[in-house]
Amino acid sequence: MTSKRIELIAKPNPAHFVGDGFRVHNFIPSYPGLDMKRMDPFIMLDYNSKYAFPASSSPKGVGVHPHRGFETVTIAYKGKVEHHDSAGGGGVIGEGGVQWMTAASGVLHKEYHEREWSKTGGDFQMVQLWVNLPAQYKMSAPKYQALDHEKIAKVNLPEGAGIVEVIAGEFKGIQGSASTFSPLNMLNTKLEKDGQVEFTIPADHNTAMLVVEGSVRVNDTDIVPTDHLALFENKGENFTVFALQKAVVLILSGEPLNEPIAAHGPFVMNTRAELMEAFRDFNEGKFGYLED
Ligand code: MN
Repeated sequence: MTSKRIELIAKPNPAHFVGDGFRVHNFIPSYPGLDMKRMDPFIMLDYNSKYAFPASSSPKGVGVHPHRGFETVTIAYKGKVEHHDSAGGGGVIGEGGVQWMTAASGVLHKEYHEREWSKTGGDFQMVQLWVNLPAQYKMSAPKYQALDHEKIAKVNLPEGAGIVEVIAGEFKGIQGSASTFSPLNMLNTKLEKDGQVEFTIPADHNTAMLVVEGSVRVNDTDIVPTDHLALFENKGENFTVFALQKAVVLILSGEPLNEPIAAHGPFVMNTRAELMEAFRDFNEGKFGYLED
């Protein structure tokens, strides 16, 4: 097997606010070279790098809004997020937890800092991904998977190098905790200083790594600092990650869907007609109801 090399190291774009609760750097689709097709099926990646929110009596966040045609996945690194949707899904995730919401045919949802956490505030750090759905599942029923940290499958690395949390996909024969609609890997990897891990990912998978803490060296050649995203070439299967300091990296890989994308705002479909239909259905109240 040959090694999978880094194609691009993306520095974080300037931060902007989503609602008043998420201060994010967008990597996908706005970073040059990281459009919606390049990391297919990962069509959006917002990264709230570590940011201290002051105490607030009312929770900050994003009010009621719709989605159709994909999944939203939120990974909490610091702080707590609360979610409610019109399909009845909802809950709170804390550090190390993941919310996996399949919007599919359509939901309304809202995303806020958890009420009690808001009262004290503190460091907040999150990743939100949009995972595209294959055409045949875009209009399937919405679904919600709450993955508390304790529920996520974990693999201890040899020699105390660290731990790999298998959110989705597979690592060293251990299956991920989330069910997915297409083959993909989401591996949250915690390394001790000088710890090393090797990943084997199919050559054709679109593959990237976000450095959430510390800094790492990949394949003994490329240094990827905190809050940077490395995009890999679509050839070769193996790469190593070595922690220059205690580090946390999120590995994302997926088999491309290679289907047409028609996207606007909160809707991601395959054709313009389907996109128009999404707006029409939303305006006619067909996404259900959710109290603000
Ligand atoms: Mn949303």
